[in-house]
Amino acid sequence: MTSHIADVLIPLALDTAYSYAVPDGLPLREGDVVQVPLGTREVAGVVWSLRPGSGANFKSVAGRIEAPPLSPQMRRFLDWVAWYTLAPKGSALAMGLKLADGERPEAVRVGVRLAGAPPRRMTPARQRVVALAGDGLVRLKRELAQEAGVSIGVVDGLIDEGTLETVALLAEPVAESPDPDFSRNHLSEDQRAAAEALAGTLSETPAPVTLLEGVTGSGKTEVYFEAVAEAVRQGRQALILMPEIALTAQFLDRFAARFGVKPATWHSGVTGRKRERLYAGIASGEVKVVAGARSALFLPYARLGLIVVDEEHETAYKQEDGVHYHARDMAVVRGRIENAAVVLASATPSIETRVNAARGRYRHVRLPERFGGRQLPRIRAVDLRREQIPRGRWLSPSLIAAMEESLGQGEQVLLFLNRRGYAPLTLCRACAHRYECPNCSAWLVEHRFRRSLVCHHCGHVERTPQACIACGSVDSLVSCGPGVERIAEEVAELFPEKRGIVLSSDFPGGTERLRRELAAIAAGEFDIVIGTQLVAKGHNFPLMTLVGVLDADIGLTSGDPRAAERTFQLLQQVTGRAGRGEKPGRALVQTWQPDHPVIAALVSGDAERFYREETRVREMAGLPPFGRLASLIVSAAEREAAEAHARAMAKVAEPPPGVTVLGPAEAPLALIRGRYRFRLLVKTEREVDLQGYLRAWMARCPKVRGNTRVAIDVDPQSF
Ligand code: ADP
Ligand code: ZN
Ligand code: ZN
Repeated sequence: MTSHIADVLIPLALDTAYSYAVPDGLPLREGDVVQVPLGTREVAGVVWSLRPGSGANFKSVAGRIEAPPLSPQMRRFLDWVAWYTLAPKGSALAMGLKLADGERPEAVRVGVRLAGAPPRRMTPARQRVVALAGDGLVRLKRELAQEAGVSIGVVDGLIDEGTLETVALLAEPVAESPDPDFSRNHLSEDQRAAAEALAGTLSETPAPVTLLEGVTGSGKTEVYFEAVAEAVRQGRQALILMPEIALTAQFLDRFAARFGVKPATWHSGVTGRKRERLYAGIASGEVKVVAGARSALFLPYARLGLIVVDEEHETAYKQEDGVHYHARDMAVVRGRIENAAVVLASATPSIETRVNAARGRYRHVRLPERFGGRQLPRIRAVDLRREQIPRGRWLSPSLIAAMEESLGQGEQVLLFLNRRGYAPLTLCRACAHRYECPNCSAWLVEHRFRRSLVCHHCGHVERTPQACIACGSVDSLVSCGPGVERIAEEVAELFPEKRGIVLSSDFPGGTERLRRELAAIAAGEFDIVIGTQLVAKGHNFPLMTLVGVLDADIGLTSGDPRAAERTFQLLQQVTGRAGRGEKPGRALVQTWQPDHPVIAALVSGDAERFYREETRVREMAGLPPFGRLASLIVSAAEREAAEAHARAMAKVAEPPPGVTVLGPAEAPLALIRGRYRFRLLVKTEREVDLQGYLRAWMARCPKVRGNTRVAIDVDPQSF
């Protein structure tokens, strides 16, 4: 006989919680992590809800797992994410539930927190303990007694009566606590006003979202650190989200200079015991500040007071497999649920965020000038139609002259080209065969260092052949177009004395080595840095005075309506690397279309005009944020299967007024990893319940068969 039923959500791609009987004598609460039978095995899950009932028809919960329970806010957040993205609820849970995969860490210290049972007898001493513990945080027994000004015996008594419960804590603290007053920089007038505005939002209910917009080098980091300090002072937690690569030693050192210790960091490279300890420390509230990649948004914070989304416009915030979510948008939701203030920081905010600020949904705080009277770099377009560049060369005479000048004065140069490898296309001069990926509709990119041809979509690698695989001609292969490796070759010929380094995601040695090299660049150990967008953003290289953009037009030719915005943001970021130290900086931008609005805005520095125009175009086209979009990708190993299923779906789309369904058409990359892809696009007016419509449509669709898959992407980033 049991008296309760637990609906347990299992972190697998399942859309609903399963019901289990709660055995008598197993005290369970909503949010507890439990072990339950599923088919022939036992799996972990979370009690999503508890209700009275006999449970006679159900299997029983096998037991509780010693893991931090998920708070009601956390469960609401995961429910919301699943609802918004149309992902199975269990998949959303899988992002938020991290269980130990080995033996439990040694738990030596004992923490206590409020359990709920009222004490049998209330005394003033007990009253003080209960009031303190009312915030739900885990404290050491000794700390709780001390803070409440009572003896340990009073706390023990409350544990015996079930008013407090014990929680095992890790032997050593997971992370040392940042000191909000360790060392404060003297802020400029603008910075101080901005910092006060941000810190103030932590005391508001509901806590607002603020766009912190400031040109590169204006001190956004310094400013949001003050909001972080305020969170720590209030005994709350702060999360700083960053595009993964921005988690550099440089950032961690800056944090340490301000707060005395480095923040805890969370990203895909944090594994094993360390990850487990952090997770537990975040759940208990012991860890005060986390700097992390987008996945850090799904941690079980005990008392979140602030979320900073640094470089909020970054595409890296969008997860495009599994649960398709945008971490910036989900941060705003999590902030609302936890009553945590949210700060979106950027030099080049997304149009979505700008529009939200303009409509008054977000606050808007600006830092219009670089710190310390430093000037923004002077930007000049180099018109490639006018400059003579020999075949197989990519640096214009103007750029070379500027490099000579800067290098001559011992300064650093960054050459930016957003193309990995040596050459984006390889073909045979004899038979015109183009080397294409066998699994994707994409050209193979030559990587000369590795002597191979590589697919950037699926990772397929083949050795660069000696003779053409199509016609057998020897020495007939030609590399077309430049990649960063090829630029490095040209630079080595032009400046043989100078120390150059190529940085792209192909950089051997992993993230650690990359971090070291970034630090070495900042320290002036290289003269010329040749890099992809990996080096374009967030970094502070004080000796860098010249940035050369080799091909500003790369991003502009795609059919994506966001292409202009993206390119503008990227070029603004890259050119913003120049002149962040004592000496002023400049940027030369090589382009075939100097009159293009993106290039013109960049050169004139009139970002406002560019954004106004882009926003108007979006509004007229009914594109986000003025309308809503979802993309549905149907994929299968056979082209016919994918197309047939996409057509069958389109047949039952039945769009109501305000909804348009486009397609199916071949997806922009029609073949990836051996799977053929067709796309349906849903475009709706702003007020339409997009999720409601999609759910109703999916329910009408035929079931997928075989290896056919449908992936739904609400708010796709490219379309
Ligand atoms: P942003 O994030 O806006 O690009 P940062 O916060 O990285 O700007 O600041 C740019 C540079 O200026 C950094 O080297 C930073 O240390 C320095 N800086 C900014 N504000 C101050 C300040 N108030 N005192 C001292 N240095 C500052
Ligand atoms: Zn050939
Ligand atoms: Zn491929």
